[in-house]
Amino acid sequence: MPNSSPKTQAHTDMSNTEAGLGPVDQEIYRHLNFTLGHHHEEVNKEYLYRALAISVRDRLIAQWNDTQEKMDGTERKRVYYLSLEFLIGRSLTNAILNLDLEDSVRDALQSYGTTLEEAAEQEHDAGLGNGGLGRLAACFLDSCANLKLPVVGYGIRYEYGMFNQRIENGRQVEDPDHWLRGGNPWELARPEDSRRIHFYGNTEYGVDANGEPYGSWANSYDVLAVPYDMPIPGFRNGTVNTLRLWKSSATAEFNLEEFNAGGYSEAVAQKNLAEQISMVLYPNDSSENGKELRLKQQYFLVSASLQDVLHNWVAQYGKDFTNFGERNCFQLNDTHPACAVPELMRLLMDEYGLGWDKAWKITTSCMAYTNHTLLPEALERWSVSLYGRLLPRLMDIIREIDARFMKELAQKFPNQPELYGRMSLIDGGHDPHVRMAYLAIVGSFSVNGVAGLHTELLKSGLFADFYKLWPKKFNNKTNGVTQRRWLSHCNPGLRDLVTETIGSDWQTDLEKISDLAPYAEDASFRTRWQAVKRHNKSALIDYVAQRTGVHFGLDALFDVQVKRIHEYKRQLLNVLHVIHLYDRICQGDTADMVPRCVLIGGKAAPGYHIAKLIIKLINDVANVVNNEPKANELLKLVFLPNYRVSAMEVICPATELSEQISTAGKEASGTGNMKFMMNGALTIGALDGANIEIREQVGKENFFLFGQTAAEVAKTRQAYDPNAIIAGDADVERVLTLLEGGHFNPTEPGIFSVLTSGLRNPHDPWVTIADFRSFIDAQKAVNKAYTDQQDWNRMSILNTAASGWFSSDRTIQQYADEIWNVKPLN
Ligand SMILES: *Cc1c(COP(=O)(O)O)cnc(C)c1O
Repeated sequence: MPNSSPKTQAHTDMSNTEAGLGPVDQEIYRHLNFTLGHHHEEVNKEYLYRALAISVRDRLIAQWNDTQEKMDGTERKRVYYLSLEFLIGRSLTNAILNLDLEDSVRDALQSYGTTLEEAAEQEHDAGLGNGGLGRLAACFLDSCANLKLPVVGYGIRYEYGMFNQRIENGRQVEDPDHWLRGGNPWELARPEDSRRIHFYGNTEYGVDANGEPYGSWANSYDVLAVPYDMPIPGFRNGTVNTLRLWKSSATAEFNLEEFNAGGYSEAVAQKNLAEQISMVLYPNDSSENGKELRLKQQYFLVSASLQDVLHNWVAQYGKDFTNFGERNCFQLNDTHPACAVPELMRLLMDEYGLGWDKAWKITTSCMAYTNHTLLPEALERWSVSLYGRLLPRLMDIIREIDARFMKELAQKFPNQPELYGRMSLIDGGHDPHVRMAYLAIVGSFSVNGVAGLHTELLKSGLFADFYKLWPKKFNNKTNGVTQRRWLSHCNPGLRDLVTETIGSDWQTDLEKISDLAPYAEDASFRTRWQAVKRHNKSALIDYVAQRTGVHFGLDALFDVQVKRIHEYKRQLLNVLHVIHLYDRICQGDTADMVPRCVLIGGKAAPGYHIAKLIIKLINDVANVVNNEPKANELLKLVFLPNYRVSAMEVICPATELSEQISTAGKEASGTGNMKFMMNGALTIGALDGANIEIREQVGKENFFLFGQTAAEVAKTRQAYDPNAIIAGDADVERVLTLLEGGHFNPTEPGIFSVLTSGLRNPHDPWVTIADFRSFIDAQKAVNKAYTDQQDWNRMSILNTAASGWFSSDRTIQQYADEIWNVKPLN
């Protein structure tokens, strides 16, 4: 009964009392009619979503103001998480979960003839990130709010987020993601807090009244950074933290000048130039593209955020920066915001008049850097000429930091010019570049990796020289994921079963989930566990069928690999295995083979041709496999388009086998692996990233291990002969023969030869063929284990029960204790 007077709330809803809000159904009614002016008989779903979102937001705002007041009213330390990416996904369902509003909202929506699921589907994902790094930032903010920590996220409000992926003719097509069309009910613009950002121009030097030399940035082209705040609710704890996202805009007087000079069109064009900065997220994961606009984005975020923090500092404490370093901490999410080091120096010196030594002491006591990758192609380097042209004053400061660092090195290690060259912030040569990771290390008091192995490899490899110089700076913080989104919200069936069995404390203390372990031995519990999984599998079956037309069988093993498409993640190895199974089926070798549905999903960077070709291969193999009558009941393969947060929320609850098959030493941590484990999937994995810790936690008997270790890979590379391996293994050879004979691409001969010749190349960096036999054997063990469903369910329960270590609450508690030295606001 749309627009009729709302019925009384059946459920008690405590979140409205202080804010003076009515029951949810009344609030929806009010916002539909008055905020949105929608008063039609038939309520439009989009409007209903918006009215609901605003109603929920209203309930957050009282707590948000409250949290902000507490922050403002204390002199305690604050932390700022600086990240070019926040892969948030949807906010409505998360807010409803955290405010404990689900029952009231369901009742309210019923009177409008719809469900929460249907309303939630209206929300566009906030896809302001590429993959793991951006999703980590979102999980971290959730955990900070859950732990009541005074942490503010700073990022960019991209007009266009991560592109939407379509498949046409088996190939990836990218569509722009205009996620803000139709408005974003989760943001509040704060134009009064706009900051001014400089670009281009030059440095002018002078001597101040005290005879001190100074530099200043002159003749700059300025743009405005306008903040939009998003609420980050804690879990039923009254805390709502802030994610502040900056949008670029033209400065008012620039337009005015042009306008007065009669250059109306030029003024508008300049406005576009300024607005370009926050227009689009760069869709590269684990690789850099060196574009000027990307560097503009980095500096734009950093300068706006630091100015914001300094402005608030001065408002609270005046221009005395003595305690600034101990009361503020900036966590740099990778090197993307590494220009925070020279920018804080600049602001303290040029804007607030501090001398170099004081400014440096402050800067190096409040910057902390997280490294996310060992891949050389992902290590940021900016050409000195570009840097100096775009950010002349910063380039001066970087040179000075480097000069002083070189002096320090020369004192500690005399006569080692090779060492100085290796460690310099600026690499030599005729086209010199700034090494952003080194800048971040020199300017920070903490450098952390994101899983045990990753941190060890940083210390022994990439950053070995720096580790020798400053061993105490280096530390590990194994990544985690929030169990609120990645279990409570996305898997309500499992959430309810777990809570009924061991209570609900695990939602804020995931170590408690180990209480589930004894129930693995309880046959009736296992039956209920399996029923939940089958329910989730049905939902995924529908999701996949709707999007691909392929129908998965409910009894099949759900074998899933979803993540960015990248050679090091080895989706190719997964495809080789599917081809191997297909080959066995065609040969009639199917004794004891369990039915298997393989799902692969993920986006390729638009310029990454090999990754895009891997997508094409997956689709071409899927076409042949899914149309082979002999394979019908035994094997299916799909490429699921447009993998994103809201897709993972359907996928991970239904997954039984989690594919974590990167080349050892290449995946820094992985977080997809943790989401799957939490939801009871078993992992097939190489000893890479956090897989190692997953296996330690769950026990080696509950994990399918295959492949070489990082050390073995390094050794293999010295004398790798994939062709000999292929010739010596009939199964492997048949797979290569099918591929190279064009079995999957009869109408487009040769299109996959780049891939097959890569596999046969002795310099294949991913040594895929070296691990193929071991992978086939581990998959056989998976197959065998799945034939005993009781035992499989037992292992599944043990995986969830052992996932406590992988909560981002644990990770954030470690950041708070060991890096930030920050305490909860109470
Ligand atoms: C968790 C997640 C990732 C990271 O997955 P990995 O397997 O760790 O690479 C990437 N994208 C989305 C949408 C995710 O939810």
